[in-house]
Amino acid sequence: MTARLLDGRPVASHMWRDLSSRVAALAETGAAPPRLAIIIFERGGSSAVYAGGIARAARSVGVEPFEVEPPDGVSLPDLAARIGALNRDPSVAGIVIAQPVAAHLELPRVVELIDPAKDVDGATPLNAGRQARAEAAFVPATALAVMRLLHHYEVPIAGRRAVVVGRSPVVGRPTAELLLSAHASVMLTHRRTRNLARETRRAEILVVAAGSPNLIRAEMVNRSAVVVDCGINVTEQGIVGDVDFEAVRPVVSAISPVPGGVGPVTTMCLIEQTVRSAEALHARAEQDESLGRFAHRSISLE
Ligand code: NDP
Repeated sequence: MTARLLDGRPVASHMWRDLSSRVAALAETGAAPPRLAIIIFERGGSSAVYAGGIARAARSVGVEPFEVEPPDGVSLPDLAARIGALNRDPSVAGIVIAQPVAAHLELPRVVELIDPAKDVDGATPLNAGRQARAEAAFVPATALAVMRLLHHYEVPIAGRRAVVVGRSPVVGRPTAELLLSAHASVMLTHRRTRNLARETRRAEILVVAAGSPNLIRAEMVNRSAVVVDCGINVTEQGIVGDVDFEAVRPVVSAISPVPGGVGPVTTMCLIEQTVRSAEALHARAEQDESLGRFAHRSISLE
């Protein structure tokens, strides 16, 4: 038996069509294209790859990306003023940080400068806290992508035993929260987990986000498992995930590839949250305008 392939590309294409028509609908009302700010501290490297991928996806649906590059050695108050201006700018629907941040700054202090209403990668403490109560407006895009992939391929989640390998605030932890909200029974594992293989073998849904190539081998899964691999590892053999794909595919029921699995869906999830933010900003502006008209009429009637 060869497992069903959870290919991310059709999922991303489906999302692309939906988002393109939603952005077009906004444009028909006369609204300017939504803008997505990407704050970038270093030219080149992983920051540039991240920013480039997001910018391409944004443009492809009609969202206008722009990079904000703070000067070298920018102080936290100066950065707060720059991000504050983006927070107040109604043309900016979303703000994301391309990691790594400058060495003299701490990521959590930078992230919390973003208005949670524009935090389209679900990175702020407020959105993380709300997510723990299943109330977040925005969640980390990779976690959302895992859910989109499972929904697209109609993988049942409610009542299933899900095991997540990795507990970072960016991938593992928020994925576990979303699975729990979808009524899976979730186990979150990490480096200190005793006998990882015993836990992963029990998984009906196994999500791996460890950043360790070939961590999950054939003897660590069961035949009914649906395996979602979030790992992106650059090796001499190219980009590979955290799962030994060739060995695991024949012994599970479904598996996502790397590349081409979670990755393309993640980018679209970030853009989806940006479009949702733009729609909310637009609805608020229309409401303010009609309240303004109403107030004007009441005054002229007096
Ligand atoms: P982190 O390094 O922040 O976290 C890795 C997590 O995996 C930690 O919780 C760590 O445990 C756990 N872990 C690492 N090795 C083992 C092991 N041998 N056994 C058990 N647990 C282990 O990584 P991220 O969460 O940021 O990223 C994880 C992977 O996902 C990376 O490959 C990254 O490139 C990829 N990624 C993919 C994205 C996508 O869009 N597809 C987006 C973002 C990331 P502990 O906490 O104990 O240290």
